[in-house]
Amino acid sequence: MELSGARFVVVGLGSSGRAAVRVLRAHGADVVANDSRDREALDASLGGGRALDELEALGATLELGGHDAARLGQADGIVVSPGVPRLAVLDEAERAGVPVVSEVELASWFVQSTVIGVTGTNGKSTVTAWVGQMCEASGRPTFVGGNLGRPAVEVVDTDAARGDGLVVLELSSFQLERVDRFHANVAALLNVSDDHLDRYESFDAYAAAKGRIFERQGDDDAAVVPDGDARCAALARSGGGRLMTFGGAKGSVRVDGGQLVDAVSGLTVPLRALQPRGSHNVDNACASTLIARLAGVDAGAIADGLVSFKGLPHRMVRVRVIGSIAFYDDSKATNVAAAVAAVDGLTSGEDPIPGAVVLIAGGVDKGGSYAPLAERVAERARAVVTLGRAAPLIEAALGETPVPVERARDMGEAVRLALAAAQPGDAVLLAPACSSFDMFTSYAARGDAFVEAVRALPEPPGRGAAR
Ligand code: ADP
Repeated sequence: MELSGARFVVVGLGSSGRAAVRVLRAHGADVVANDSRDREALDASLGGGRALDELEALGATLELGGHDAARLGQADGIVVSPGVPRLAVLDEAERAGVPVVSEVELASWFVQSTVIGVTGTNGKSTVTAWVGQMCEASGRPTFVGGNLGRPAVEVVDTDAARGDGLVVLELSSFQLERVDRFHANVAALLNVSDDHLDRYESFDAYAAAKGRIFERQGDDDAAVVPDGDARCAALARSGGGRLMTFGGAKGSVRVDGGQLVDAVSGLTVPLRALQPRGSHNVDNACASTLIARLAGVDAGAIADGLVSFKGLPHRMVRVRVIGSIAFYDDSKATNVAAAVAAVDGLTSGEDPIPGAVVLIAGGVDKGGSYAPLAERVAERARAVVTLGRAAPLIEAALGETPVPVERARDMGEAVRLALAAAQPGDAVLLAPACSSFDMFTSYAARGDAFVEAVRALPEPPGRGAAR
């Protein structure tokens, strides 16, 4: 689309919406910056008035406190931020023929280089950052962003968007809802399990949104899915890319004899050289290696990135060890599959803990089933401490399990109860299986509260300093 002189409305003025306004203005579009919140509420959430002043200084017109159906219906294009819910006015504009796109779609109009898209229920951020580290190690201009870190649209006009650049994007199902021409040269779907069923009408609708990452792929593109996952493979086949698999018994990059092995490049790296902990992170390492290789990153840079990546905050971070009891912050485990992966990660694989897990779980329920978690708890947990609004639901799911369950009022109490239940060799694991918004502003704030509570625990008498 020719942007110069085109009339655009950007709906939702969080960081990606504001980045979209900047790009549209830089390319000569007329822009209305719109948000349902009024100026006061926006100023408060954006940390002061400068963010909106900046948009006005760029020549955008602010329309706040609601959406003007006539304005939206007459626009040449509408860019919607990922945080904006489904709105009838947007559906109406779309029916009237106005293209309604995500900022990822807008970004894709300007990228000529290799695009890597990563989606899935769990592991997206880890794999995006891990692949990003490999790309950076290659020395090629690299942009890492999307749902993680910088908004995708900030890639526009960077070196990474041109020539032999590499653009690595984490894509949530929300961002994939409104793509049209967006096309990833390498598209990865890491896994699909119950999540966000509070926003989608069914699991199939959620999975289908993820599958859109493959939609525009052609013969020269690669579609990456886990070995042996028929559902992911079926979604991948809906596009025209070559199907490539990682992990399992037959993946193109998989584990063999304690080593990560890339069957095509010949790269081998011992699993003990990888820093992020847990078997799910071995899967993430296999996926990252395959994705980077398919994007043309050389094996040396892949090996460098594999071993130098330390993992992201609030994902399986060992916070402290008291005696022989270790405390892990996996606050980012915001759904059941992630919490199961976290328990598995500590209790299986190359270097399992000697004892069992004391699990701290709970928060805001997302509409999935806790049965898989109850199963893992029965096998591998010493005790469970529940927290937040979902506590009764989790307790009900654990009803038949012979594992003791206690409810805590706050994170401090949860950590104290967990320590009291733990035995030598055990790990206390915060893996909530829920989102955080009942008690915290984000999963990060929840993880910080856990870390603070763990640091506040006294050292047992006669033991050395905390590590
Ligand atoms: P996302 O960006 O998809 O939320 P993250 O990389 O931030 O993914 O990881 C979120 C949580 O998901 C982690 O804290 C961990 O509990 C779990 N997890 C990470 N990788 C995987 C995986 N490959 N399979 C299952 N669970 C995973």
